[in-house]
Amino acid sequence: MPLPQLFTDPAAWQARCGQARDSGDRLALVPTMGYLHDGHRSLLREARRRADQGGRRGLALATIFVNPTQFGPTEDLSRYPRDLAGDLATCEAAGIDAVLAPSDPALMFGPVHQTWVEVEGVSQGLCGASRPGHFRGVATVVLKLFNLTRPHLALFGEKDWQQLTVIRAMAADLACGVEVVGMPIVREPDGLARSSRNAYLEPEQRQAALALSRSLAEAAEAAAAGRREARALQATARARLEAAGARVDYVEVVHPLTLRPVSEAVPGSVMLLAAFIGTTRLIDNRVLP
Ligand code: AMP
Repeated sequence: MPLPQLFTDPAAWQARCGQARDSGDRLALVPTMGYLHDGHRSLLREARRRADQGGRRGLALATIFVNPTQFGPTEDLSRYPRDLAGDLATCEAAGIDAVLAPSDPALMFGPVHQTWVEVEGVSQGLCGASRPGHFRGVATVVLKLFNLTRPHLALFGEKDWQQLTVIRAMAADLACGVEVVGMPIVREPDGLARSSRNAYLEPEQRQAALALSRSLAEAAEAAAAGRREARALQATARARLEAAGARVDYVEVVHPLTLRPVSEAVPGSVMLLAAFIGTTRLIDNRVLP
């Protein structure tokens, strides 16, 4: 399989994608921050599958950009893990045709950048509360990637449930003309959600991090057994996280689309949580039965 064509210049990428779209190709886009793992891999493979339609091969595209505008001043931007060579090999194996990996963040956000996308409502609360400006950075870069690429569809993971909801809202509100596809969370065999940030975890922290998926599994079991009061479900999950030594950022049961807290978990409500294991902030979520 040929290596994907690598673009470091967004303008050259825009020209290539525009030409493909104008010639009738179907374009599927996977935006990432790189250091690709099995979670990304499932999005990349699905992009390949969905780009090809009716016997015609489309363009399966990925972007690798550690977006500085979605990191807070005290967050892990400078130490965020990177491995471009490994990522290109992963893209190749997944059948990706072209990758945009801007060689300099200034190519995406120059010194005079002054336009920002603010999605209200669903950006507030949860990660939006503890990471001010995060979703503004995400929405702005994703809209820019949509404009540079003009994909027919773009794939995002349910691992970042709030982010997916924010992007769906933006795509609908601003008539982006991009189908936003959500993909299920890919986990390690023991349940830990795959994340580039798992690379930060020391072995005993890796063990403690299991409390995230386990507390969600317990909540799902409790809900299935008829314990529906959100406060009780949240308190149990929080206690399990704290017992594992995690510092809880939030545990909330919310409506899957509005992300508003609910008092009773009904089928389809989502429990979302974020917790620090040492200095590493991890998130996870689960739709309750
Ligand atoms: P990131 O590189 O962390 O910005 O993630 C890029 C895309 O991959 C986002 O749409 C994430 O939601 C998705 N993603 C990350 N981890 C997972 C996972 N474990 N399962 C499914 N999708 C994921």
